[in-house]
Order: sequence, then C-alpha cells, then structure tokens
Amino acid sequence: MSSVTNHLPTAELQALDAAHHMHPFTTNSELADKGARIITRAKGVYLTDSEGNEILDAMAGLWCVNLGYGREEMGKVAARQMNELPYYNTFFQTTHVPGIALAKELADLAPGDLNHVFFAGSGSEANDTNLRMVRTYWAQKGKPEKSHVISRKNAYHGSSVGSGSLGGMTPMHEQGGMPIPGIHHIAQPDWWSEGGNQTPEAFGLACARALEDKILELGADKVAAFIGEPVQGAGGVIVPPESYWPEIQRICEKHDVLIIADEVICGFGRTGNWFGSQTMGIKPHIMTIAKGLSSGYAPIGGSIVCDEVAEVIGNCEFNHGYTYSGHPVCAAVALENLRIMQEENLLDHVRNVAAPALKEALDGLAEHPLVGGVNVSGMMASLPLTPHKASRAAFAADKGTVGYICREHCFAHNLVMRHVGDRMIISPPLVITPEEIAIFAERARAALDATYADLKAQDMLRAAEEHDAPSPLG
Ligand SMILES: *Cc1c(COP(=O)(O)O)cnc(C)c1O
Repeated sequence: MSSVTNHLPTAELQALDAAHHMHPFTTNSELADKGARIITRAKGVYLTDSEGNEILDAMAGLWCVNLGYGREEMGKVAARQMNELPYYNTFFQTTHVPGIALAKELADLAPGDLNHVFFAGSGSEANDTNLRMVRTYWAQKGKPEKSHVISRKNAYHGSSVGSGSLGGMTPMHEQGGMPIPGIHHIAQPDWWSEGGNQTPEAFGLACARALEDKILELGADKVAAFIGEPVQGAGGVIVPPESYWPEIQRICEKHDVLIIADEVICGFGRTGNWFGSQTMGIKPHIMTIAKGLSSGYAPIGGSIVCDEVAEVIGNCEFNHGYTYSGHPVCAAVALENLRIMQEENLLDHVRNVAAPALKEALDGLAEHPLVGGVNVSGMMASLPLTPHKASRAAFAADKGTVGYICREHCFAHNLVMRHVGDRMIISPPLVITPEEIAIFAERARAALDATYADLKAQDMLRAAEEHDAPSPLG
C-alpha cells in the first residue's frame, strides 16, 4: 500500500507527473512549474498528501465521495465481485446479478414511474445516452423533427462532445467544435449575479419564461427535451428561486417537451432527499445519475427512465451502449454504497444534523466582509465574494482572480474549497459531523481573512464599475 513513508519523494513524483500526466481542465505547463499536490490516502473527510498534511475535503472529491473516504466494506464488495464475475457485457441477450439488483434498487428509490435504468460509465456518457434517447423517442413516435434540446448557459452536463454541447460552458464550447447543432441555451436562474433589482421570485419566473420563448421560437414540434440540473453545481452552486422549477414544469407539460433532470450532483442525498428533483418539485422523464451513485469509489453512471419513454425505446433496437454499461464490479460497489446509506440513515443525518450545522456555519461566514451571502441547498453551497455586499457587486479584477486567491489560501490552511469565478464552493461528504463542520468554518474564516488582507494590500477591494444596481433585498 502506498503511504507517506514508502513512495518516492514528493519532488520526484511531481517531476514524473509533469513529464507524463496530462491533467483535465488544467494548464499543464503552469502546473508543471508549480508541481501538483499529491494525495496519498484519505479517511472520512480528510485527505493526506505526500508531505503528511491532513486536508479537510469540503468538496467530497469532485462532489462525489458522499460516504466519505476509506469505507472498507466498499473494497470488500469490489474484491468479492472481481473474483466471482469481474466482467460480462449486457449486449448479447445476457445480464448479470449486480446489474439486475442495482437497476431494481434505483427503480425503487426513484420517484414516480422512473422504473428503468440504462447504465453508463460516467455522467458524460449518460447525458450522451439521454440526447440520443430523447431524439429516438420522438422519431419512434413519428416526429423525427422534434429533435432540438434546450439547456441553460453555464450548465454543466459533462465533457464529451454531446454532453459538453448540452452544457453551457463558453470556455468549453470554444475548443473542439462545440456545441453540436440542435442544442440551445437559455439564461440561467442565477439571481445573485444576474437578478439586478428584481426580486428572486420575479427573476425566477422570467428565467423560466425564457424557456417558453425559446420553444415558441423553435416551434414546439421541433423541441424534444429540456435539460437542467435541479441545482447547478459546477456553474457555481446556483440555487434557483422557488418560482423557477414549477414554471419550467408547467411550460414543458404544456408544449409536450420531455424533462431531463441532471442529478449527477444532486442525486443520492446531496440536497437532503434522494434526488434533487424531489427537493425542487420536478417531475422528470429521465434522470442522469453518476458521482454519488457509487460515492466515487467506482466509475458508474446511468439514466433512470420513465415507463413511457422506456416503452417506446423498447420497441426499437436502440443502437447505443458502452462496453462498461452496468459493469458488475461498479454495480456491486454502487449497491453497497446505497445499502450503507440506508443502513446508516444518511438522509436523516443530512436533514437533521449535517445540513443545519452547515447552514449555521455558512451564515456565520456570511458575516465576513468579503462574503456577499449564502447559496445553499442541503449539503451543496456557495459563498459569493464581493467588494460591496449591498449591491452584490463584482470585483474590478478579472472574474475568478479573487476566487483563485481565496482557494490558494484555503489550500494553505489545509482546506479544499473550490472556486467558480469569485464564488467559493462547498460540497462536503454527507457523513461530515458538526465537529468537522466547525473545523471547516475555522479554516474557511482564516482563508477569507488572509484573502481580505491580500486584497487590501494590493488595492483590489474595488467594485467593477458597470455594477451599480443595488438590490432592494441587499
Ligand atoms: C460531473 C457532472 C457530469 C459529468 O459526469 P462525469 O462522470 O464527469 O462524466 C454531468 N452532469 C453534472 C451535473 C455533473 O456535475
């Protein structure tokens, strides 16, 4: 087993990493100069790096390690399944027990008539499946031209060509010929950054009505589906105003447009329910799942599909699938994850213990002069940084400059808190205790103080000039 005592020295590992390892979403030449931080082990909510630092992971890896690190049951189940049946496919009129059991378990957990599961290896793959599935659904119903999909700006649905096109991330679209045709992006319900003088309620309604405008512009007979994260994650933990999703639901029903809820982050307890759709009152036709499905212990994703869509797809040969769809080891690991979540009443812990403690800690941090407010749903949250709380102003510096400074101070204080632009992002393992949340808050405050001191010293506590629309709500 790798440990801090038996691997190569940190500098040598960093040199090898720089020489051979291309990192995702990274300027590799800059990282090579700096040296990547090497994580060697983890337990509970703490990571250990190659220098022996213990770092509190307030991001649960990439929003996925809901159960926390180092659960030995997960490793045991994986080993047992590897010995019994490490792999078999589900293409050739064959199936296997972990795949059957996990599909049945997901059908039981999912709301309404979401009773059918198409497995994938990741969230990106699952959203590629969804794009093809909704188009095939309408084609099977004799409406092949009902093929356009509407998404939101700043949405994140994955990084493959299909899922990256569904997403609304401009820097991604600028590379590699995206978005592909037939995908449209409307405004996101980000009241904090874009709501100006409107109340959240009015702004939420206006954002939802942009969907109806787009449907009417394209023609309802051309629109297959709307896709959205119940709460946008990678876009900056954007919790939509309460008026938003009910209006989206109404509009989709009125125009016969399918709803795909991308539950890759929100699913499996993150917002305090099994699915974010339940928290937000959405009745989707398809839910995308990944990340928390296995708490990140094994790569697995999928689509949970309603009766109607599954029946129509079931009447044709759907020419789609992945070698690792329903991989037995990953399915067994996911099942064990769900079993532990239920045995330990993790949802109760989130609702009654962890989420209230996190909310209290965040409200405390919101009193810091740099923090403009709190966006939170269950165990996902963001703290927008601002030079001027009352107007929710942006900084004069390039977007993300201040967030990056703060993230670096977090790391220096042994805390992983990511930044999206100038928002600090929190999404800890769901098992986190109130004591650990108190440690999180202490380190976050120290990092915010250090950031504030830096900004002051460099005369960066200035607001961008165009931002002069104070909110009635402060
Ligand atoms: C992470 C993420 C994805 C992509 O999942 P991968 O497993 O990285 O392919 C899709 N949708 C959402 C909402 C995500 O957060």
